[in-house]
Amino acid sequence: MSEPRPAVPGGPAPLAWRVATVRGVSPASAHARTLVLDVPAWPGHRAGQHVDVRLVAEDGYQAQRSYSIASAPEDTGVSLTVERLDDGEVSPYLTDVLRPGDGLEVRGPIGGYFAWDVVAGGPLLLVGGGSGVVPLLAMLRHRAHAGAAARARVPARLIYSARTLEAVIDRADIERLEGATEVDVVLTLTRETGMEWTGRRGRVDRGLLAEAGWPPSAAPRAFVCGPTPFVEAVATMLVELGHEPRHVRTERFGPTG
Ligand SMILES: Cc1cc2nc3c(=O)[nH]c(=O)nc-3n(C[C@H](O)[C@H](O)[C@H](O)COP(=O)(O)OP(=O)(O)OC[C@H]3O[C@@H](n4cnc5c(N)ncnc54)[C@H](O)[C@@H]3O)c2cc1C
Repeated sequence: MSEPRPAVPGGPAPLAWRVATVRGVSPASAHARTLVLDVPAWPGHRAGQHVDVRLVAEDGYQAQRSYSIASAPEDTGVSLTVERLDDGEVSPYLTDVLRPGDGLEVRGPIGGYFAWDVVAGGPLLLVGGGSGVVPLLAMLRHRAHAGAAARARVPARLIYSARTLEAVIDRADIERLEGATEVDVVLTLTRETGMEWTGRRGRVDRGLLAEAGWPPSAAPRAFVCGPTPFVEAVATMLVELGHEPRHVRTERFGPTG
């Protein structure tokens, strides 16, 4: 297969589709799986970036979706954590059908706006809803690689809203990051009815952001990701609380098309 040529001579070449090989599949929650991919000639990525995934049926029908990269740039392989939507076209294939050794077309990394490196500094205020936590975990995993001195210069807080305890993505790794890399984590569950959960319940609201987020005077770098209504509500509240709009970056995981 030849490399794609620029649409405009001298212009940037479109991103190439590459056939990745699934190295591993593991559960990330009751509804989500993490795929570790070996991508040939992978150029490296920044925490927060995503890839496009393309499925092609035998009759030529194609479906394409975006998935955040869950792994840190320092990790080997490119990990995607996909939450299964029961009536979805693409996510059930990725979570239920793909097996180690299978091929998967991907292109990327994509996106420079919703990306963060330790050198960009902090404090870091991460607010995720549902699978929107995935790129935020990539940022925390990247920060974990940076060493204690760099981490001390960039304190980090994660506010994570999930429906239920079993829907929490990578719960054990979040607890590891919290304990080993000094991340303040606030988990709030919107639909948990079980008695096992004694922590916070309900949606992310202004009171929670004021209490658990950094004050605007600390000028945190805020990254907000999740379903479109969640992102719009949280970003609006952060600005109303006094955070500068240019410090509030958002990524929406809304339905496609
Ligand atoms: C930049 C970016 C990064 C993303 N990263 C991730 C990721 O890391 N992990 C992940 O699981 N998903 C991620 N998504 C969402 C992903 O691209 C798909 O939208 C999702 O997997 C659903 O695809 P599907 O084909 O299974 O469902 P579809 O066939 O597209 O839709 C099925 C049904 O679900 C609804 N729906 C579609 N998408 C969503 C959604 N995101 N939330 C709620 N309802 C929806 C549709 O309206 C429809 O009713 C990301 C999206 C973007 C834009």
